[in-house]
Amino acid sequence: MLCQSNDELKALVTEAKTCTKNGKVADYIPALGKANPNDLSIAIHYPDGRCVSAGDIEKRITLQSISKVISLALVLMDRGSDYVFERVGMEPTGDPFNSIAKLETMAPGKPLNPMINAGALVVTHMIKGNTIEERFQRLLSFIQEMTNDSTISYCEEVARSEFETAHLNRALCYFLKQHNILDEDVEQLMDLYTKQCAIEMNCLDLARIGVVFAMDGVDPLSCKQIMPTDVARICKTFMVTCGMYNASGEFAIKIGIPSKSGVSGGIMGAVPGRFGIGIFGPALDEKGNSIAGIKLLELLSKNYSLSMF
Ligand code: GLN
Repeated sequence: MLCQSNDELKALVTEAKTCTKNGKVADYIPALGKANPNDLSIAIHYPDGRCVSAGDIEKRITLQSISKVISLALVLMDRGSDYVFERVGMEPTGDPFNSIAKLETMAPGKPLNPMINAGALVVTHMIKGNTIEERFQRLLSFIQEMTNDSTISYCEEVARSEFETAHLNRALCYFLKQHNILDEDVEQLMDLYTKQCAIEMNCLDLARIGVVFAMDGVDPLSCKQIMPTDVARICKTFMVTCGMYNASGEFAIKIGIPSKSGVSGGIMGAVPGRFGIGIFGPALDEKGNSIAGIKLLELLSKNYSLSMF
């Protein structure tokens, strides 16, 4: 059974919205603090092009950590999986996304997975190109291809705001540099990473990216293979094991949809073989996931039996 109408979704949004009062907008990146904690919107994109949606789906959000799964796909295509997984691991950490702890206690300097900040910084470091601009443009073009929208760009205000305050991410970079995992200028890498995190789109675009992952890397509308099947499979697996930070286990049990969240309150979901989901709800729970977004996915998963397990 599938969700067929905007009205069905609207009822779920109304129900899920009641929990926004228990969440808090991220403000460690000052520009994100301006978001309205009561917002909640969702779009579902089916492979045949049909979309159902509810809430203010025109609102644009920055990808933040959702970008980590997209940069991973690009880097797997750029470098191959052997090269990538020599430099970043495949295991969940059980720690918050920005933790530095396991970098010291596990294989020194090798981040445990690409969905935590340390791992994502290594992934961004591996994006091919001669200059920061060229590397960013390659990532942006990949996203424009997935969304079929050449106007997608990044929010300068959010990128600047994160660049000016990213002390912890700089610390992670220096730690990685000490262990020879990174060998580029930290300020340059921070420039690229903060622009990557500030790439901006609406829920519909997010759902369209979700459907590409859901359909094993094929854009179902153009029938073009945008990324190889095994790249989409690796990304979806990370979405299950690490996509919701240190809440991924509980999320897999309760919801069972490969998903990736970001501190802007976005969630991109890929229901394997079925459809893509884009959610925006900036009030976050204590682990940094959209509190109403998770509630909404829980309702959807229950009502339409979406768990893959
Ligand atoms: N840009 C954010 C950061 O590095 C992304 C984190 C997130 O969305 N969890 O802190």
